[in-house]
Amino acid sequence: MSALPGEILKKSFYDLNYSDLEAVIKQNNLNQSVAGILFNWHYKKKESIQCRDNISKSSLAFFEKHFDFSLPEIDTVQESSKDRTVKFLFKLKDKHKVETVLIPFNNKYSICLSSQVGCAMNCSFCFTGEQGLKRNLTTSEMVGQFLQAWRWLASNRPGEERILNIVFMGQGEPLHNFDGVKKACEIFLSQRGTSIGVQKITVSTAGYIPGLKRWLQEVPGVNLALSLHSPFTEKRNELIPINKKYPLAEVLTYIDAIPLQKKQFITYEYILIKGLNDTADDAKKLGALLAGKRAYINLIPFNAFPGSRYESPDLNEVENFKAILDTFRIPTLIRGTKGDDVLAACGQLNSKNSANSL
Ligand code: SAH
Repeated sequence: MSALPGEILKKSFYDLNYSDLEAVIKQNNLNQSVAGILFNWHYKKKESIQCRDNISKSSLAFFEKHFDFSLPEIDTVQESSKDRTVKFLFKLKDKHKVETVLIPFNNKYSICLSSQVGCAMNCSFCFTGEQGLKRNLTTSEMVGQFLQAWRWLASNRPGEERILNIVFMGQGEPLHNFDGVKKACEIFLSQRGTSIGVQKITVSTAGYIPGLKRWLQEVPGVNLALSLHSPFTEKRNELIPINKKYPLAEVLTYIDAIPLQKKQFITYEYILIKGLNDTADDAKKLGALLAGKRAYINLIPFNAFPGSRYESPDLNEVENFKAILDTFRIPTLIRGTKGDDVLAACGQLNSKNSANSL
């Protein structure tokens, strides 16, 4: 990536968590109150213009000189005509593009963030996986998706700028970009800033054990979702090739060890693909595997895309599958088709527009 003169040394302000910011301030002998002021301005007020709160001119000049305050640029916005779903295509500095989706619930929104450009997991049902991994997103690019979506709501749907849940279920494998995602979560959680509650953030993984191990130690309390997709080894190997290296049984031993708060669950995502994993046998095996766990199942009818090798299931098969899981007393939700006219349902970021290439 070529940088403009003078830009190369500038680190993004939005890559700093609160303690990083405090360290910068200390090293440069600035007033300690500046950390709180800047976090308040950028993350609580979410202002796009330079900080006008009570901050000295010299501190402001220091930050302007050494830090970049730009955010990923909104390239395209698609608003659903059926509901209030919004899909953003962001253009990054190196011209790669990633998608972010705002999903409405009541008068609020959940935001589905991308964590990588492309993905290395190569899942056979996933459009992003077909393209391989281009690179990790930086923390500022993830925080930037949130801030830009918030500002878009503030200007286009004033009064609706309430994004209460964050899910890392867009493009990429968040646990494969561990450090970047961890720091983004720290920024979202900071009470000095956006102050999102720990149980309002969910990280979805295909079962990448190296990240999972660290996650449990380093980011306690944040919700976890596992893309399970089949309880049978051979089928899961086909759907999620990293299952060969990190088998489901081992993944579950780590997940079972997570201490859960009252009312906290692990979400298990299960894509239903016609004739592959949607039979009564699949449902029974899945039910038996998860029965007794603090589990919540999200059934996701496969969303076909041009060139995909699988088909979506019939609606009655989806209902039958759920009915079997009900007999195991596992709460199960069939994921709706919010924003399907803009191909925006989270995790189905597969429109032609989403091409991640330069
Ligand atoms: N790598 C992470 C997060 C990205 S995928 C993970 O594997 O969990 C997020 C969710 O989107 C996954 O549960 C995945 O199953 C779902 N998804 C991806 N492609 C899809 C498609 N074509 N149809 C339906 N769901 C899809």
